[in-house]
Amino acid sequence: MSQSGNKIGTVYLVGAGPGDPDLITVKGGRLLRECDVVVYDNLVPDELVVTLRRAIERVYVGKKASQHSMSQEEINRLLVNLARQGKRVVRLKGGDPLVFGRGGEEAAFLAMHDIPFEIVPGITSGTAGPVYAGIPATDRRASSSVTFVTGHKAGDKESTDVSWEWLGQAKNSTLVIYMGVAEVEQNVRRLLDSGMSPETAAAAIERGTYPTQRVVATTLAELPERARREDLKPPVLFVIGDVVKMREVLDWYQKRPLSGLRVMICRPADQAGWVYLTLRDLGAEVLPYPTIATEEHHDHEAWQKIISLDIAKRWLVFTSENGVRYFMSQWQEQVGDVRQLADYQVAAVGFGTARALQQYTLKPDFVPTKATTVELADQMKGQLDLNGSAVVRVRGNLGDDRVEKTLADAEATVIPLKVYSTVTPGWSGEMKEKLFAYPPDVIMLTSGSTVDGLAANLSADELKNLTADCFIVSIGPMTSDVIRSHGMTVGLEAKTHSIPSMIEELVAHHRANPIRRAK
Ligand code: SAH
Repeated sequence: MSQSGNKIGTVYLVGAGPGDPDLITVKGGRLLRECDVVVYDNLVPDELVVTLRRAIERVYVGKKASQHSMSQEEINRLLVNLARQGKRVVRLKGGDPLVFGRGGEEAAFLAMHDIPFEIVPGITSGTAGPVYAGIPATDRRASSSVTFVTGHKAGDKESTDVSWEWLGQAKNSTLVIYMGVAEVEQNVRRLLDSGMSPETAAAAIERGTYPTQRVVATTLAELPERARREDLKPPVLFVIGDVVKMREVLDWYQKRPLSGLRVMICRPADQAGWVYLTLRDLGAEVLPYPTIATEEHHDHEAWQKIISLDIAKRWLVFTSENGVRYFMSQWQEQVGDVRQLADYQVAAVGFGTARALQQYTLKPDFVPTKATTVELADQMKGQLDLNGSAVVRVRGNLGDDRVEKTLADAEATVIPLKVYSTVTPGWSGEMKEKLFAYPPDVIMLTSGSTVDGLAANLSADELKNLTADCFIVSIGPMTSDVIRSHGMTVGLEAKTHSIPSMIEELVAHHRANPIRRAK
C-alpha cells in the first residue's frame, strides 16, 4: 500500500481501545493492517502491534523507564515527516484518541502543515474499564449522568479547570476520574468538602479490560487509603457513584477459567493468532513474545527433482505447520495446479500439521500415534511398503536428518525439500522492559526452537529471574528436554503434544491448583 513520489500520505489517528486487543474498532483494525508505519504509545495493547506484518514499520513514542518519552512536539513533527515521505501512517493511541489523549493537538498540527488526516474513535477506558468491572456508567435506578474528568493537575491546563465543588454536589450521577492516582487524596477531599457523602460507593480500576485488571471497591471516604494500601499503579481509573454497588451482581470478567493469569507465548506471531484468541477467551492475558520467526527458502534443485519425478508411488511428509504453509505456496509457483497433488500420499506428524493441511482441504493419509518426527519415520517404515517409492520430506533448516535416513532405510528415494529457515527475532528494549514490569505467570513453549529463542533473547540472569517463579507448560518430551537443558523446570507436559491439549490441561491444572507467580 506504499504511496510513492511526491504524494503526501494520510495520517490516521486511531483509537486502540482500552487494553483488551479485541476492543479496537473494525475500521481501526483494518487501517492498522493496511498501513506502512504505526506510531504508538504506552497504553496501546502489545498484541495489536506485535501481530502486524513484518513489513510494517513500528515507532514507539511512549514512555520508557530509562529515558524520557518523546515530546509532543517531536511526535507531531515525526507524523508530518512520515506523511511527507508518502507513507500511510497510523497514529495509534490508547482508548479514544480525543479523550484525554492529546489527539486534538496532533490533528491540529497536521492541519497546520496541510497533511491530510482522519480520526477513528476508540472505546475509551472510562466506559470500558467500568464495564469489565461490572459497573454501568449510568443506570436509571442509580445514576442519570456521567462525567469524565482528569484528576491530574501538574501544570496541565485542562486539569486545573475541573469544577470539583460543582461535581461534589451532583446527585444521582457517576464520576469517572482519569489519571488521578497521585492526586486521589486531594481530589476526594475536595469532593467531600463540597458535600458529597463519604458513604458514596467508589472503585479504583487498575489496568481495566486487561485480564490482570484489579478492582478495589469501597466508599468515597476510604478510597485514598485503599488505593495506597493496594499499591495501585497506573493506568488507574476511579469511578465514584452508587452504580459501583451493582458490581456485586454484574461482575463477570474475573470469573473465567484463566482470569488473572498472564501467559507468555513464544510461538511465531504469524502462527499464534488462534492461540492468543483461545487463551484470551478463557480470561488469560496474553504476552506475545515471539522467540522465533520463519523465512521462506527456495530449494530450486529439489524442486527440479520433484517436477521431473518418474516414480509412481509418491509420499509427501510434513512435520510442521510452516512446512505445509510454505510448501503450498511454492507448489502454486512451481506446479500451479493443486490437482497434481493427487499423485501423492500425505503423511503429517500430528495435530497442528494436520490442521494446517486441512486449511488447504487436504487430509493426511498417515498420522503416527505419537506426534514426534522420529515416531513418524519409524511408524511409516514399519507400517507402509515404501520400497521403490519417492518421499518428499518437507522441512525447515533445523533438526537432524533421522527422518530421511529411516525412510531411505525403507528403500525409498528421499528428496529433502527445505522450504523455510528459522530465525531468532530480537526483542526491542521496551518489549523487554514491559516483560519484567509485568512478568508472566505461565510460559507456553511449543517447540525446542522457541525455547532456544527465549534463551537467546535474554541473559542467563534474566532468564533465571523471569522463569524461576513461572509455571512452564511444554508441548511434549522433546521440548521438555530443551527446557530442562536451559535450567528451567517443566510444570506441565501436554499428553497429546498439541497446543489445544496444552491449553486444556493448563485450565484443568489451574482449576485444581491455582497458579500464581510468587511475588
Ligand atoms: N485516550 C485514553 C486516555 C488517555 S489518558 C482513553 O480514551 O482511554 C491516560 C489515563 O487513562 C490513565 O491515567 C488512566 O486513568 C486511564 N486509562 C487508560 N487505559 C486504562 C486502563 N486500561 N485501565 C484503567 N485506566 C486506564
